[in-house]
Amino acid sequence: MKPLQGRVVLITGASRGIGAATAVLMAKAGADVAVNFFSSESEAAKVVAQIEQQGQKAIAVQADVRNAEDVKRLVETTVNQFGRLDVLVSNANINFAYKPFMEMSWDEFSEKLNGEMATAFRLCQAVVPHMEKQGGGKIITIASGLARTPSPNFIAHGSAKAALVTFTKYLAQELGPKNITANVVSPGLVLTDATKHQPKEMHEMMANLTPLHRLAQPEDIAGAVLSLAADWNSFATGVYLPVNGGMDLS
Ligand code: NAP
Repeated sequence: MKPLQGRVVLITGASRGIGAATAVLMAKAGADVAVNFFSSESEAAKVVAQIEQQGQKAIAVQADVRNAEDVKRLVETTVNQFGRLDVLVSNANINFAYKPFMEMSWDEFSEKLNGEMATAFRLCQAVVPHMEKQGGGKIITIASGLARTPSPNFIAHGSAKAALVTFTKYLAQELGPKNITANVVSPGLVLTDATKHQPKEMHEMMANLTPLHRLAQPEDIAGAVLSLAADWNSFATGVYLPVNGGMDLS
């Protein structure tokens, strides 16, 4: 039996990058998938088509996950379509200002903090009643190594992801009695649209510093998400799982 046979997975920001790779891998593992997108409708349609090729069902749902009404509609659409919701992967890449602290305004900083946290907060509050009714579920948030290891100009992003990590651990504690696990997957640098503008030399340097001697592809992160989402994971909760090829061994 496949590790997600009969399960329904909702992935935010699944039109591209890590979310798209995760959506396809979840389908290979036997799940039906709700593919959330913000603006990339045709990319989301391609992900849906790949999932259908695996013999699973999928829907693409447009929603800005920073928006409360959109989150409500996204979760309701998923449950109405598939009749249940077993796994939430909160992955969408929320925009952030990339600049030094002394050049950043509070509005810029709080926009990222608020965007990241409002998204996770509302998504989790919306999915938990369905998971509870079904007797359990799995929540996986996608953080970043920058939550623990600062890098110049990433103060808004890193601080927001650090809040997300702690938030997920609180969920693990409170939702455990409902048989709902909550875990964090925390990637290092991954080759996606979000990082393709970065200098090639920097990527080469980082690959050389990484024990596995390469940078991550989106599929590498998807594999880690599956390891926590699958039915075989019944007891790991509140886990912070770094997926960085051994780049940060602290
Ligand atoms: P990406 O390739 O830039 O793709 C971003 C995805 O997020 C797209 O599907 C996009 O949808 C969606 N999105 C953006 N804003 C959204 C919104 N307001 N509502 C709904 N969807 C939205 O990103 P990625 O690199 O795969 O990153 C995915 C996650 O991994 C993020 O949480 C990111 O912080 C984390 N991460 C990435 C790296 C890295 O090096 N790439 C490292 C550590 C952590 P549309 O295309 O439809 O607009």
